[in-house]
Amino acid sequence: MKPIPLKYRILPLITATFIGVWYYRNKKDGTTAFLIFGVMYFVSYFIISAAWRDAQTTPLGEGKRIAGVDDGCPAPTIDVALNLKNRQKAIDEFGYGPPNPALPNREFWERKKKMWKVNDDAEVKSMRCGNCAAFDISAKAKACIGQGIGGQDPEQVIDAGELGYCRFLKFKCAAKRTCDAWVTGGPIK
Ligand code: SF4
Repeated sequence: MKPIPLKYRILPLITATFIGVWYYRNKKDGTTAFLIFGVMYFVSYFIISAAWRDAQTTPLGEGKRIAGVDDGCPAPTIDVALNLKNRQKAIDEFGYGPPNPALPNREFWERKKKMWKVNDDAEVKSMRCGNCAAFDISAKAKACIGQGIGGQDPEQVIDAGELGYCRFLKFKCAAKRTCDAWVTGGPIK
């Protein structure tokens, strides 16, 4: 975890000094003012360092990260309930699917053609998680997904499902599916 930047270390000092000075000016009681300064300093430092730790485990809206692999794994790779919640959001709000990519899913692809304003089936079907810029199949992402799956050979599940981690919608998605947020240029390796 990165150390707390200087500006966040100074902030509790400024806050405590301000309150201590304010108290001293009003009550003319140096001892109490000093005690207030000390307490305020430690309390505000504690709050700021806790917030910093939390921010370090919450990168770019990615959801909380769980310690274990390097800087930690995105929580949805480990927490099945959170993953399903985010996946449902992806389905409801971003048209993630189709449910079974092995089937024709004509309605699904028609909707995507309309959305992208294209007529070509092949074109719209070429835009999948597998080549989306948000699809993370780096060794680290796979290690995190593997941790969440557990068992002796999680790679089998990852490979069978062609799973990766969607950095936009924060869930484990499958290479053969897609969503309305697809972006060209992936995957992240
Ligand atoms: S943003 Fe990309 S990787 Fe994420 S679900 Fe949509 S198509 Fe898949």
